[in-house]
Amino acid sequence: MSRGMKPSERVRRKSGKARELEKYFHALHLHFGPQHWWPAKTRLEVILGAILTQNTSWRNAALALRELRLAGLLRYTSLKHLPAKKLAPYVRSAGFFRQKARAIRNFLDWLEQQCGGSLHRLFSLPPEEARNRLLRIKGLGPETVDAILLYAGRHAFFVADSYTRRVLIRHRLIPQNSGYNATQVFMHQHLESSHVLYNEFHALLVKVGKRYCVKSTPKCSNCPLRPFLPPSGPA
Ligand code: SF4
Repeated sequence: MSRGMKPSERVRRKSGKARELEKYFHALHLHFGPQHWWPAKTRLEVILGAILTQNTSWRNAALALRELRLAGLLRYTSLKHLPAKKLAPYVRSAGFFRQKARAIRNFLDWLEQQCGGSLHRLFSLPPEEARNRLLRIKGLGPETVDAILLYAGRHAFFVADSYTRRVLIRHRLIPQNSGYNATQVFMHQHLESSHVLYNEFHALLVKVGKRYCVKSTPKCSNCPLRPFLPPSGPA
């Protein structure tokens, strides 16, 4: 496959499930159009956003990022020596703000100690090693780490968040009780390993999850994925 390939051309074509995912991707892309994720100007901003959006809406995380921007704190040099206690008030709107300020502080300390403060060095590590090392930082779970690696590092790790799980479970592509890791394994098994594809597909699944495949009762009648529902309806 050539490197200049569009996301829609990168879905692996081998198994039945891969072909099904390809149809999902095309239907979503046709319905919603390109998503242009992640909404951030720098890699540091992606990382801070990935931490701030844990257990809250992107809207709240974006408000916290705005506060940081206004205070001139979206630069590594400005954040480098800022204690978590001083950082916390700026990220209050993201909720769990003391916890999130500590997670940001933990990440920054780790980055300084392990990579000399260089994101380039972090993302030059072998991807699996970078993932394992990031997962050891207190306050960073698999979803946050994969969002950092995918959207800031351009490494092919699918962000198998609750939106993705909900769609795949309701369409009976994965078992009811599938957790984060099992969902990610499923996507990695059936999609070509491409950060371009994972970026767009994840963003589209979030979109359909917010618009149609909501937590309470799915709004299947107008959903672009309705043609792919099992005959018995959503699980
Ligand atoms: S068709 Fe229904 S179950 Fe499937 S993704 Fe859309 S809302 Fe969810």
